[in-house]
Amino acid sequence: MPTDFSDTIAAIGTAPGGAARGMVRLSGPRVVDCLSGCFTPHAPMIDLSKKHLAQRIPGWIALSDEMLRVECDLFFWPDRQSYTRQPAAEIHTWGSPPLLDRILEVLLQHGARLADPGEFTLRAFLAGRLDLTQAEAVLGVIDAENQEGLQTALAQLAGGLSRPLHQLRERLLTLLAHLEAGLDFVEEDIEFITRAALTNHLASAQEEVTAVLEQLAHRGRRQDNPRLVLTGPPNVGKSSLFNALVARYAVSSSTEPALVSESPGTTRDYLSAIVTLGGIECELVDTAGCVVEDSEESPAGQAQHFAAEQGRQADCTLLCVEATGAPMSNTLSQSHNTAGEIVVGTKCDLGHAHQIAGGVVVCSSHTGKGLEALAQAVATQLSVSPSRSGDAVASTAVRCTESLRGAQRALQSALDLVAAAAGEELVAAELRIALHDLGQVVGAVYTDDILDRIFGQFCIGK
Ligand code: GDP
Repeated sequence: MPTDFSDTIAAIGTAPGGAARGMVRLSGPRVVDCLSGCFTPHAPMIDLSKKHLAQRIPGWIALSDEMLRVECDLFFWPDRQSYTRQPAAEIHTWGSPPLLDRILEVLLQHGARLADPGEFTLRAFLAGRLDLTQAEAVLGVIDAENQEGLQTALAQLAGGLSRPLHQLRERLLTLLAHLEAGLDFVEEDIEFITRAALTNHLASAQEEVTAVLEQLAHRGRRQDNPRLVLTGPPNVGKSSLFNALVARYAVSSSTEPALVSESPGTTRDYLSAIVTLGGIECELVDTAGCVVEDSEESPAGQAQHFAAEQGRQADCTLLCVEATGAPMSNTLSQSHNTAGEIVVGTKCDLGHAHQIAGGVVVCSSHTGKGLEALAQAVATQLSVSPSRSGDAVASTAVRCTESLRGAQRALQSALDLVAAAAGEELVAAELRIALHDLGQVVGAVYTDDILDRIFGQFCIGK
């Protein structure tokens, strides 16, 4: 993730494809130099280097040395008023893809470099224009697939999530300052904050963190459940596993049991049920034996097509293989081992489980062994890939929940220590942990991998 902002970056800022209008964006200390080589204002005597206010300047942008030029509007922010808090500009013109490509090329020839994905928003974040939850909300607005997603992302962008956390951090910093002042004057018996006041502050801070956690749990909840699809060769035990998981984890008991048969490729429609695995509600789909008898395609071919189609729509696939001998290694060698796939070794009660390769969750639908481990593996898998569509608001919830729970725990420990009349230095240590965790949520404390994860999801030009 680039953090050197002395470069001037450029990228096409509008969506790919033809449109009435298109825009190329620039940010960095050399924006004026870059533009002076290729932009001519309509009004004579305009000197960009002398501008101190943001403004729109109509003019021409030169596309080649032979004076081929095109009309454009230049939106120019000379200094810290811009999104990135650097000199910045946008060239608005016709939305023709080759034209925008050519303008970008011209800017690169005049000293800009191509921006990385999300680099404009990264600069805005590092300049303090946005906090991390707002940066994620920018992505949420761009990716919103419906009105509800858009509304939530806009509320997050407006600071709906981060404002209370910033205020809470401020109050906890003041509380920490009081505690530390008390530690500095411990000899002199000056009380900077009473135990009762400390308890009140800590308890109300904890309530606020709990309220934000509840808000996030609501936001992170998808309208549709993540899809978990059972795949694998016939007779490997998919339907039995479906039945066993439904019997143990079903949210409602309305699902009919899947048909279990000794003969490979049993004919029937596909089944699905809502189950809660490791605390995550998901739709479990059984693809076994989904064939139409009068189809020209062979039953095995149909089943494969169906399973492949279901697999494409899955958030997680459970590739079932018998946990014994050769059939398992054959299937494993065909597995693409893709992200979102868990390999399940079925029928482990039949023995020979020692032949199983690593990274396989082994279970038996008949004895129930390994089902809980499978449920946990699914929950882990689904929490690292929260959504098929890269729902940024849901991913904010996943990113922040752990940190907020950490803050909640630290505040509880601080409260316990105050109640036990423990030393204030111990309370202060817990408070520092809570502040660190809250800082991670809003981005006051961040690491490169957090930035990579968030800004790597953006497209170039944002
Ligand atoms: P599918 O075609 O993949 O759906 O496989 P089924 O679920 O229909 O199971 C095929 C056969 O394997 C049936 O005879 C099941 O009783 C048997 N089977 C499934 N799971 C287990 C298991 O965990 N242990 C044992 N011993 N047999 C199983």
